[in-house]
Amino acid sequence: MKTESKKFLLQEKEIPEAWYNIVPDMKVKPAPMLDPATKRELKAEDLYPIFAEELAKQEMNTTDQWIEIPEEVRDMYKIWRPTPLVRAAGLEKALDTPAHIYFKNESVSPVGSHKLNSAIAQAYYCKKQGITNITTETGAGQWGAALSLAAQHFGLALAVYMVKVSYNQKPYRRSIMQTYGAEVIASPSMSTKAGRKIITDNPTCQGSLGTAISEAVELAMSTPNCKYTLGSVLNHVSLHQTVIGLEAEKQMEMAGEYPDIIIGCFGGGSNFSGISFPFLRHNLAGERNTRFIAAEPESCPKLTMGEFRYDFGDEAGYTPLIPMLTLGHEFMPANIHAGGLRYHGAGSIVSRLKKDGIIDAVDIPQLETFAAATLFARTEGIIPAPESSHAIAAAIREAKKAKEEGRQKVILFNLSGHGLIDMASYDRYFAGDLTDCKYEPAK
Ligand SMILES: *Cc1c(COP(=O)(O)O)cnc(C)c1O
Repeated sequence: MKTESKKFLLQEKEIPEAWYNIVPDMKVKPAPMLDPATKRELKAEDLYPIFAEELAKQEMNTTDQWIEIPEEVRDMYKIWRPTPLVRAAGLEKALDTPAHIYFKNESVSPVGSHKLNSAIAQAYYCKKQGITNITTETGAGQWGAALSLAAQHFGLALAVYMVKVSYNQKPYRRSIMQTYGAEVIASPSMSTKAGRKIITDNPTCQGSLGTAISEAVELAMSTPNCKYTLGSVLNHVSLHQTVIGLEAEKQMEMAGEYPDIIIGCFGGGSNFSGISFPFLRHNLAGERNTRFIAAEPESCPKLTMGEFRYDFGDEAGYTPLIPMLTLGHEFMPANIHAGGLRYHGAGSIVSRLKKDGIIDAVDIPQLETFAAATLFARTEGIIPAPESSHAIAAAIREAKKAKEEGRQKVILFNLSGHGLIDMASYDRYFAGDLTDCKYEPAK
């Protein structure tokens, strides 16, 4: 069978030269982070003990629309960027929809996800500042894998706290991190105060991103010349991910279309922001009216059911207070297979945009995501990550709606990663062992 799916490719020299910072273009800007003890507004300097200085400055930058991508970072992007944009004609045909469906394929990175876009930038700025050690947490292992490669490239020693449920469910991600030279610790662990407290209170605790963040921050604060890094949620992470949307913008132009709807799956918000913000700037300028949809799991619906308030980014309360849509930092999401989406809150920019009605969100049940993933694999040939399958499921919903309405919509979604290391989850789906997990507010 001949595939009709069409690829739009850019040349290496078209890798963006600057990241897009959306904050200067927002009419209502996100509120500042606060010091939890004094409730004082934080400045970039306040973050220097935890983060590399350049990253702390980017986090707080509300004035520069464009931030230059260092040559060393662009050089490393060349390993796999620019990534393809694909017209998913096979999927369109299977759905018999008048909609045109495009996806940006971030799964082609060496680690299989978009996470490397920010990992390289973060490792680079740490190295440039003379840092020798970095720590982080990882849920499904995607961020840890990306940072392991980046740390190795820039000669940094890396300790990764991996959420215990994923450490056991996804041993190959641990192997990948170790292959790149990182030290990997299952979280909660006995190696930190935060971990010991959680294990003492609840010996069978399977961990969460919040717990792993607490451990990684604690180790960074207690180790000399060591910084902490984070793969989602924060503004500078979303900033680095805008290379996705900036490339996609050029590629949609090559395709001769402009998206009516843009979709990204949603954990803390980085890949959704990456595909969306460059297009959203045209909405903010009054030039376009694209609809943006963040696809989150039904079991962890911070955007649709969360409260808009200040909350900690982690479970133990080590991070600054962040203004966010949150289910509460003590919320333990169900053990769904999309480990990268099990996070209690949304980044402050996306939370603000959602609150102001500038973006939309949908909650997708687990079984629907695996059905969508299977259809996508069989029509487009790529086995998606369980996280990315949320975006595919949302795109399929929109394509079906277009058919019912008899309208020719242009839909663009981000394929944030492939699922070749998640096949145990697919096995469980095919065996009928997976269930939907409804959200239950914390007791
Ligand atoms: C980490 C991850 C996500 C979720 O994180 P965001 O910051 O919301 O993008 C989604 N998809 C994949 C493949 C991931 O690895």
